[in-house]
Amino acid sequence: MKIARVEAVPLRIPVNFSSIGIDHDEFASFTYVEVETDTGLIGHGLTSITQARPVAEAVNSVLAPAIIGLDALAHERVWHVMAWTATPWAQSGYASHAISAVDLALWDIKGQAFSQPVWRLIGGARDKVPVYATCGFSFLDDDQLADVAARVAGQGFKGLKMQVGRPGLDTRKNPPPLSEIIASDTRRIRRVREAVGPDVEIAIDSGCRLDLPSAASLCRQVEDQNIAFFEEPIVQNDVRLLAELRHKTPIPLTAGQNEGLAYRFRDMLLAGAVDVVQPNVIITGGITQCLRIAGMAASFNVPISNGGGAPFQNCHLQAGVQNGTAVEWQFNAVIACSAIYKDPPGHKDGWMVMPEIPGLGLTVDRAAVDRLVDAR
Ligand SMILES: [Mg+2]
Repeated sequence: MKIARVEAVPLRIPVNFSSIGIDHDEFASFTYVEVETDTGLIGHGLTSITQARPVAEAVNSVLAPAIIGLDALAHERVWHVMAWTATPWAQSGYASHAISAVDLALWDIKGQAFSQPVWRLIGGARDKVPVYATCGFSFLDDDQLADVAARVAGQGFKGLKMQVGRPGLDTRKNPPPLSEIIASDTRRIRRVREAVGPDVEIAIDSGCRLDLPSAASLCRQVEDQNIAFFEEPIVQNDVRLLAELRHKTPIPLTAGQNEGLAYRFRDMLLAGAVDVVQPNVIITGGITQCLRIAGMAASFNVPISNGGGAPFQNCHLQAGVQNGTAVEWQFNAVIACSAIYKDPPGHKDGWMVMPEIPGLGLTVDRAAVDRLVDAR
């Protein structure tokens, strides 16, 4: 069964947050990928948290010509060809997103070819996974944040995640001093704790936007708030600085959702830089490379979890391997993906039940994909 067609489409999907009681509109950027075999099977993949059009171009003009004609079930062989085609001098960047989306499509095909859901093909460690909700967006004011946190906790989620450190070191946006941002974050975390009570887990995520002193300061000021984990606290996921921060705080640290290269996780594990690693199947080289990373983490007795959203794809990794844990129900990503998949999986009482449908278990609304093309 050979790869016959590879097609990537850049998407710009309008997202409205009315489902969590907020009147806010924005656009989400996703790249949708289809791979078709010479037997007519079609698999689909996805990537995001980057610009959609250069990723689509990388798939269509760089990866597709290199892999058409290869065995669609030989995921290690295809991954090797893609990596050496797009990143022969150890680049990462957009190439990692492009490779991830194609690799996901191949795993979707593999599941269909063997009539099994992907999570069972890769190990079937559990048939349901816990989900936590990311709803504490930086665009919410303090009152809205507390209101949304209480509303989302009321939907059955046992854990919530909120954005901190924004805009932080993101100097494109002329940020306020980091000390002001930390003071604001401290106040907002306390508001959320008041709103949801003691039994709901609260996690925080700075998206790599803080330096070591600021991240350490925030940790000190919210240590009494029972923070479940601090995700990507340090700029560039600097491994040495993460390890230093980990020695300064009892709050567990996590990182890795946007890393493209497996050795970055090896270095985090060797340095004892994080408590949990977070490879994301739509970004970190697809299922194929995330399995390598999960295996590395297992050998250090470290769990993996999902940061960076895309629960419909990442649930397969978290359910499939023994050291998998939670999936992130990232509201803007879920709302965006719900525009292109028919009847995507839901959650109940903080759990997602894994689908029995072969492959990724997602039905694409191709008319919606074509309607949402980013044609700017
Ligand atoms: Mg994150």
